[in-house]
Amino acid sequence: MEHLTCKLLIVGAGPGGYICAIRAGQLGIDTIVVDQAKPGGTCLNVGCIPSKALIHAADEFDKLRSFGSNSALGISAQKPAIDLAQTVAWKDEIVGRLTTGVTGLIRKAQARFLSGPATFQDGKTVLVETADGTKSIRAENVVIATGSSPIELSFLPFGGKVVSSTEMLALNDVPDRLVVVGGGYIGLELGTAFAKLGSKVTVVEASASILPQYDRALTKPVSTALKALGVDVLTKTKAVGQGKKGLKIEFEGGEKQELEADKILVTVGRTPRTDSAGIPSLDLTMEGPFIHIDAQCKTSMRNVYAIGDVTGEPMLAHRAMAQGEMVAELIAEKSRVWDDKIIPAVCFTSPEIVTCGMDPTMAKEAGFDVITGQFPFTANGRAMTMESEAGFVRVVARASDHAIIGIQGVGSNISEMASAFSIAIEMGARLEDISHIVQAHPTQSEGLQEAALAALGHALHV
Ligand code: FAD
Ligand code: NAD
Repeated sequence: MEHLTCKLLIVGAGPGGYICAIRAGQLGIDTIVVDQAKPGGTCLNVGCIPSKALIHAADEFDKLRSFGSNSALGISAQKPAIDLAQTVAWKDEIVGRLTTGVTGLIRKAQARFLSGPATFQDGKTVLVETADGTKSIRAENVVIATGSSPIELSFLPFGGKVVSSTEMLALNDVPDRLVVVGGGYIGLELGTAFAKLGSKVTVVEASASILPQYDRALTKPVSTALKALGVDVLTKTKAVGQGKKGLKIEFEGGEKQELEADKILVTVGRTPRTDSAGIPSLDLTMEGPFIHIDAQCKTSMRNVYAIGDVTGEPMLAHRAMAQGEMVAELIAEKSRVWDDKIIPAVCFTSPEIVTCGMDPTMAKEAGFDVITGQFPFTANGRAMTMESEAGFVRVVARASDHAIIGIQGVGSNISEMASAFSIAIEMGARLEDISHIVQAHPTQSEGLQEAALAALGHALHV
């Protein structure tokens, strides 16, 4: 067996692990990063990027379909068709370009990438089964970045027509009837995409509302759009098993029914990969299935760090990346700490939802006296010209000094405003700062300025 040593060993080359490797390499740290699959992790291979590619294709197809029936724009088009296998091949080509790019970036930073499953022997030693045989790696510092997998329901195991997001993103044909279990991020992003591609979609959600972590004002435009797309949303309804024709469900009162389905997509959350690869044998303090970390991503074991989905919510790629970059700098003995960073979240539904910082309820629960301002896109010229009038921008500010502590919004393409929302909060902007900045016209970004003005009591366009 070959024995390798390094200063930093990273297990998992997803957004957390590969960013950590690149930054560590840039800082001159002798680094090895191991992955059993292609670099890029869930995000690049079967998550963020493939889903957004499919959503884009579905939007384009849906747009063409809308031109077939009395388009207000005066555009008409012949009945469009889609070859999903070709769409998936296009998506795979983008994924290939990105994973190859990440491999190149790791190499450029002079970190070493090792391909194969890793198993912890102890907190500083890992065995990797590579194509050239087993290699033992001993490191001064270790980062656990093994990510997460889809939760499998015991009564609805994956296989046959029951699929996870991974299989759903690789289908060759659009299913006629798609039942989605779980009206959260993945269920609604993919459910909406397949409805636009022509599936008859039903979403089964156990809670009283879709996207239960968001307030009703934010989810209402999404619910309205789902209805317009012909998606049936059954809230307070649970999946209970697979039937001969599809999915067995149970309504709140106990009444049961079977929904006919060609595919059943189960998206009821993701579980951290902390139950394998020798991780349970390590002396790590856990928080349920997640690894407990402090404000520097340090675990309970000396020189063992954990980043990304294994460390809990929010399970988002950009959080994993920011943690990875911080840990590399810490190992290079730079002074870094995770100090209540704003982590924007975007749900790529139609319309999209963006949340940054505290919403009014969270602010109240945290003891803040707040004022809020909201600006609807129905009053925004650019939104009208883009046929994107659903939604709004909402600003939450401390009543005492007008410091902005939260910005949320829902609207078409509002994901591109997430950056402005985060920067405003992280840089300590007050309502007056945002309302005095000149915004380009006509843009949806004017909505942010108008929301700040609305909080001050003098919005100009409503
Ligand atoms: P992962 O990306 O899961 O990477 C972990 C890596 O570790 C994997 O490559 C795995 O092969 C490797 N690994 C695990 N165990 C071992 C082992 N024993 N040996 C060797 N290698 C191992 N987030 C967003 O921010 N925006 C989005 O739009 C978004 N969309 C998503 C859409 C879908 C359909 C899904 C499923 C997820 C989405 N996410 C999104 C979530 C995002 O993908 C994750 O938060 C992110 O990938 C987590 O990064 P990570 O580095 O912690 O882990
Ligand atoms: P989720 O937590 O977003 O949603 C799961 C939903 O399933 C919840 O609404 C829950 O109430 C419901 N549910 C649970 N058990 C059920 C049952 N038996 N029957 C019916 N409904 C049930 O989880 P997800 O959609 O699987 O996504 C996982 C994670 O991936 C997200 O939390 C997020 O961190 C990440 N993600 C992010 C993005 C993004 O940033 N745009 C996109 C996709 C995924």
